[in-house]
Amino acid sequence: MNLLDPILKIFSFDKEDFYYVKIERNEKCYCNSGKKYKSCHYPKHLKSSKRAVRKINLLTGEETIKVLSIKKIRKDHDLFKTSVISE
Ligand SMILES: [Zn+2]
Repeated sequence: MNLLDPILKIFSFDKEDFYYVKIERNEKCYCNSGKKYKSCHYPKHLKSSKRAVRKINLLTGEETIKVLSIKKIRKDHDLFKTSVISE
């Protein structure tokens, strides 16, 4: 473990003013197609190891949709309000 890690961690906690919420498969897709995520963009994301998430600003509550790689989601799991993707 790098000695700087705990320091960088504290630093990044100060900096983060947002959190992520996973878009569930049964939720409506973020693209406004009217279809559920699982029958719209989800299969594409599954193939490319990506998932759609909501990035929510802690201060303003403003939501933006992000498509993140599973790798990035695992790495940033502490920024997630909902459990991290397990499949
Ligand atoms: Zn879609």
